[in-house]
Amino acid sequence: MKCDKCSAPAVLFQKYSGLHLCKKHFAADVEKKIKKELRKERIEGTLAVALSGGKDSAVTLSVLSDLLPRQGIEIIAVTIDEGISGYRDKAIESAAELVTKLGVRWEMASFEEYFGVRIDAVQERPCSLCGILRRSLLNRLAKTVGASALATGHNLDDEAQTVLMNYLRGDTGRLLRLGSPAKKGLVRRVKPLKYIPEKEVALYAILKGIPINLDECKFSAGVFRAEVRDVLNEVESRHPGTKYALIRGVERILQLTHREPFELGQCARCGEPAVASLCQTCEVLDKIQPKNRDAAP
Ligand SMILES: [Zn+2]
Ligand SMILES: [Zn+2]
Repeated sequence: MKCDKCSAPAVLFQKYSGLHLCKKHFAADVEKKIKKELRKERIEGTLAVALSGGKDSAVTLSVLSDLLPRQGIEIIAVTIDEGISGYRDKAIESAAELVTKLGVRWEMASFEEYFGVRIDAVQERPCSLCGILRRSLLNRLAKTVGASALATGHNLDDEAQTVLMNYLRGDTGRLLRLGSPAKKGLVRRVKPLKYIPEKEVALYAILKGIPINLDECKFSAGVFRAEVRDVLNEVESRHPGTKYALIRGVERILQLTHREPFELGQCARCGEPAVASLCQTCEVLDKIQPKNRDAAP
């Protein structure tokens, strides 16, 4: 098969666009989608980029570190060590290789130093608790380095799964928060890969020789997400463009909804933004280590 834009051999058939693309035109397509998303976000000053060492965050950092410094934006990669033996050490090696290759400033923080816990030691629901602690620590780290926004590697598949999960649970609150502006104390999130399918992110990483860690975390991402992923993949294969339509649909609803500005309070213990008297992070830490109840994180 040949590329529909030139006569070079195609590396990919995009079912949803009907195009065969060669290596060069595929890379240009990915970069065009990232640029479009960045223009919408109007980033200024310093941008923190969450770097896990996996393909999504590695591609995000590679493309952004090529585009943004030219526009006067400083990029700082931020990595969280959750304390997952075997997995995290290898991922950090890949991250180190990438930041060296790109010449990007790199900051790291661990659950152990900030919260006094390792996810390895958590017995119940380690994955969901880890997610809460990781979001919280990424936010703190981004604030510490003076970033105006934090970019994460969420791709089209991640976003479509999250949207459908929220629909299926009837969780309209969470659905509406997906597009809401950042609250005081929370660094604004940007997702440059939001419109790029997971398979294309992986292909881009391979074709560009970006160092990535291919291991999956030993803690599963939840049964429900896996079910939703399978359903979406099945529907997408028969109706190409479904994942894109799903997240565009929510964005259109968000544009139509009048949303009251939602002010966050402060956590009574750590001072971070909180909906209740304690922030989610402090609640999670209480569950993991009740004995630490009075120790400030
Ligand atoms: Zn081509
Ligand atoms: Zn707190």
